[in-house]
Amino acid sequence: MTMAAMPEGSSTLFADLDVEVELDAPLAKHTWYGIGGHADALVHPRSEEALCTLLRRCARTSTPVRVLGAGANLLVDDRGIDGVVLKLDAPCFNALELPAEGEATVARVGGGRDLAKTIHDTTRASLGGLEPLIGVPATIGGAIRMNAGGKYGEIGDVVHSVGLVTWEGERRTYLRDAIRFSYRHTDLPPGVVSWAILALRPADPVALQQRKKEISAYKASVQPLAAHSAGCMFRNPVDPATGERMSAGLLIDRAGLKGTRIGGASVSDRHGNFIVVEPGARAADVMELAAKVADETFARTGVRLEREVVFWRRGEP
Ligand SMILES: Cc1cc2nc3c(=O)[nH]c(=O)nc-3n(C[C@H](O)[C@H](O)[C@H](O)COP(=O)(O)OP(=O)(O)OC[C@H]3O[C@@H](n4cnc5c(N)ncnc54)[C@H](O)[C@@H]3O)c2cc1C
Repeated sequence: MTMAAMPEGSSTLFADLDVEVELDAPLAKHTWYGIGGHADALVHPRSEEALCTLLRRCARTSTPVRVLGAGANLLVDDRGIDGVVLKLDAPCFNALELPAEGEATVARVGGGRDLAKTIHDTTRASLGGLEPLIGVPATIGGAIRMNAGGKYGEIGDVVHSVGLVTWEGERRTYLRDAIRFSYRHTDLPPGVVSWAILALRPADPVALQQRKKEISAYKASVQPLAAHSAGCMFRNPVDPATGERMSAGLLIDRAGLKGTRIGGASVSDRHGNFIVVEPGARAADVMELAAKVADETFARTGVRLEREVVFWRRGEP
């Protein structure tokens, strides 16, 4: 594919900008599913300034833009993705600034930085707060956008403020009080999480290490972590009778759907809410299977499941 696949006027989209551009870039290697098509343009901005300018130009030319994190909650269309896909892997989006010893316990971290690496580095610096997220594959930006978490806590618990670049290319800072974090959701406006400040707490690194081990062991005992997936396919629905969340995995299990297969995609035997794939699977297999699981769970339990995994489809916003 060439620039002809990009919208009109896009030849000037990247001119004189501090960005690296890969045209017709395969995205499979950037997602945990490891399947799906190519991005018309995978763009790596090398500065926040370049990101802002690029977003302004995209807005002006109506070029679709999406941002890719670690690809751990994402399914990419077999036909690939139109417009620009951003990847925040330049050093400026991957820095971690830790407080000097004895100072406040806030850390500034780039939106593209790997969450696991950040947990490792903050733990070693005797800072607690991120350890409940051990084993959740993510970048900081993706984790904030999805309010990643689980049984032991979520990232919203430690967010102090977020630096966001809007799709129109404007820089905004949101303080914690202005952001609502709820179950796997934040009401942050659309745009790119460029950086965040995390409010951590002083903690004993040995105790943190022990806690990480316990949480990792729990996660490994309930989730098929070695398989190719995007984590839980559906959100845990609210039980109207109690107002509590029910396990989507348990409902899928009760509906007798574990092991159901379409093409190379199947409902995990370990965890009903994981749709896993094997080599040769198509994104269409996963999409079809997710629709089938939702329909049959509704037919058999009366509960409608809502998707958590983000599907990127060519031609759709
Ligand atoms: C094996 C496995 C286990 C998992 N376990 C858990 C779990 O226990 N708890 C949990 O919550 N999740 C879990 N997940 C899902 C996933 O880890 C989280 O949803 C995570 O937050 C995804 O982050 P990411 O960087 O990979 O985002 P991506 O998957 O790349 O993107 C997800 C969404 O976030 C957006 N996004 C990404 N980066 C940015 C950014 N910088 N700014 C704005 N938007 C952005 C994307 O555009 C997309 O809409 C699991 C996934 C896998 C594969």
